[in-house]
Amino acid sequence: MPGNLQQVFILVGLLLILFISCSTPRWLKHVFIPEGTDTAVVYRLPYAPNKKYLVAQGYWGNFSHQTTYALDFKMRRGQPVHAAREGIVLATASHFVEKKGKKKTLIEEANFIDVLHNDGTVASYWHLNTGGVLVKPGDTIYPGQLIGFSGNTGFSTMPHLHFEVYKRDANGYHTIPTRFYTKQGIKFLRWGRIYAHP
Ligand SMILES: [Zn+2]
Repeated sequence: MPGNLQQVFILVGLLLILFISCSTPRWLKHVFIPEGTDTAVVYRLPYAPNKKYLVAQGYWGNFSHQTTYALDFKMRRGQPVHAAREGIVLATASHFVEKKGKKKTLIEEANFIDVLHNDGTVASYWHLNTGGVLVKPGDTIYPGQLIGFSGNTGFSTMPHLHFEVYKRDANGYHTIPTRFYTKQGIKFLRWGRIYAHP
C-alpha cells in the first residue's frame, strides 16, 4: 500500500474514533457505559437459579427504554422473581389486573416491587402478576430471595420482567447500568442474549 494512502486510512480511523467518543449515537448507547458508573456492585440475575431467560429489550431499547438503562427479561406469567441484591422493600403493588393495549396510561397500572439498597439506589421489578408480590414495605430481603411472580400488568405487550436500578439525586431520577453474575462471567447484559446463572 502506498505510504500516503496508508496515512489517509489512519486519519479516517482516528476521526471515526473521535466521532464515536464525542457523540455516542443512541444506537450505541447500550454498548458504552457512562463514566462514573459504580461497577463495584455485581447483581444476581433476578430469577430462579435453574432458569435462563432472553433479554427481549436492553438498555436504551427502541420500544420503551429509549432513555433508560432497563432490562426486559422475556418470561411467561407466574415465573419466580428473585431479588438481585439485598435491601429494604420501599413500595409494592399487586392488585392491578392485566389489560390489553399499548396505551401509555397503563404505565401506572403495573404491579411492582421497589427495593432500596444501602447506597441509595433502588431496584424496580415490574409487570408482576396479580397477587404476585410476596414481600411488603419495610421487609429486609437478601439476594436470591423469592420475592414475587412475573406477569404482564401495566404498559406491556408480552409477559416479561422489567428490571431497572435507579437513583434520585440532585440531577433528578436516573437509571444506572448494572453488572450481573452470569454463566459467562460478570457482564452487562445485552439485548437478544440468553443469560443463565453461574
Ligand atoms: Zn421494560
